[in-house]
Amino acid sequence: MGDYQIQCAACGQLYPDTGSNECPDRHAALQRTVYTAQRLQCADLPGMMRFYDWLPIHCKPAVTAGPVTYRSVAFAREMGFSNLYITFNGFWPEKGASVKTCSFKELEAVPTMQRASEKKSGILVVASAGNTGRAFAQIAAEMNTPVVVVIPKKSLPLIWTTIQTDQVLLITVDGDYSDAISRSIAIAALPHLTAEGGAKNCARRDGMGTVMLDAATTIGRIPDYYVQAVGSGTGAIAAWEAAQRLVRDGRYGSHLPHMILSQNLPFVPMANAWKAGRREIDPMIDMADATQAISQVYADVLTNRNPPYGITGGLFDCLTETGGEIFTVSNDEARQAQRLFEECEGIDLDPAAGVTVASLITAARDGNIDPCRDVMINITGGGYKRVQEAYDLVPVNAALATDRTTGMDQIAGFVNDWVKEHA
Ligand SMILES: *Cc1c(COP(=O)(O)O)cnc(C)c1O
Ligand SMILES: [Zn+2]
Repeated sequence: MGDYQIQCAACGQLYPDTGSNECPDRHAALQRTVYTAQRLQCADLPGMMRFYDWLPIHCKPAVTAGPVTYRSVAFAREMGFSNLYITFNGFWPEKGASVKTCSFKELEAVPTMQRASEKKSGILVVASAGNTGRAFAQIAAEMNTPVVVVIPKKSLPLIWTTIQTDQVLLITVDGDYSDAISRSIAIAALPHLTAEGGAKNCARRDGMGTVMLDAATTIGRIPDYYVQAVGSGTGAIAAWEAAQRLVRDGRYGSHLPHMILSQNLPFVPMANAWKAGRREIDPMIDMADATQAISQVYADVLTNRNPPYGITGGLFDCLTETGGEIFTVSNDEARQAQRLFEECEGIDLDPAAGVTVASLITAARDGNIDPCRDVMINITGGGYKRVQEAYDLVPVNAALATDRTTGMDQIAGFVNDWVKEHA
């Protein structure tokens, strides 16, 4: 029952979970969960808690967020696919989808906050371009647990919840997502705080892994293709890890899905490195003029400069083992795909999900996907229009606005006062 150990993807040693995201021998590798329950037993609970057996937590938070998989009719016909499955992560109550902050980041936030509280890790500090911050703010509110969120100033309108909360300390930086990450690292070093760990946190990955579990348990087998736009690649690594568990389960087939991934032009570092056959991203070649390129990207959540690509157990290994590919998508292609999908399926998409749909269109056109196989598309975000009809969204206010001239001592004083009230 929720029983597991952690295993280093480099040295293979198994050890109990202390809440750390590092190998005891400090290998630069992802640390994975190994669950005692080899056969997945779905619990009779709403949303992602159905997959509690394969989440690194011992208590079940009362949340409703979860993926929903259905077989597409209209869009599948448009594309000429015979078995196209849509796994929707967003708000669409008519389909049973109740991710209120409208992206699969909420699936990461739930087990991450729960694991941190079980392991007494301290108050989590999360850096975000928008979707992650909104997801953690919502779950902090639902679980009544404090969180510190650091975002670029321009992402402020993206941070809202469906319920009023005083559990979120929101800090803005005058810069892009990378600047928010650097600030968050300094803030997480303050007393009682801890970095949430990003892709290295097995709770984040296993939370996102429920997308694959939902698809496979709905379809009855592991899909032949998994399609997703990637920023860090965490969602794809999570899907690959979940598929490996399903193979060991034995009831869903013995194959891994081909990972059909995509990035949004002109910022496509992983697509460039993969095309060149390199395990390492070379910043000079693969992300020249990064700041300029990032400013032109339509789906900002895909602009991660330091993704877990080359690390052992990371995206390079995932693509290699699954016979995967990374495509590039232009802003226009993403917008057109968003429109087409909404016309066919009747729900609005996050820009990043538009990139995903566009990559499926390109891959199908170029013969990179067999249209007769089981294709699963991870709609990582959507339903923003629908959630506004159902809830009065509550903006989260920035408690502290910083820029390059704000000293760390000033931030530390402010954060410490807040922590004293919330720890
Ligand atoms: C974060 C995000 C992605 C990218 O996911 P990664 O795990 O970082 O690769 C895609 N779509 C949406 C809507 C997201 O919020
Ligand atoms: Zn190790």
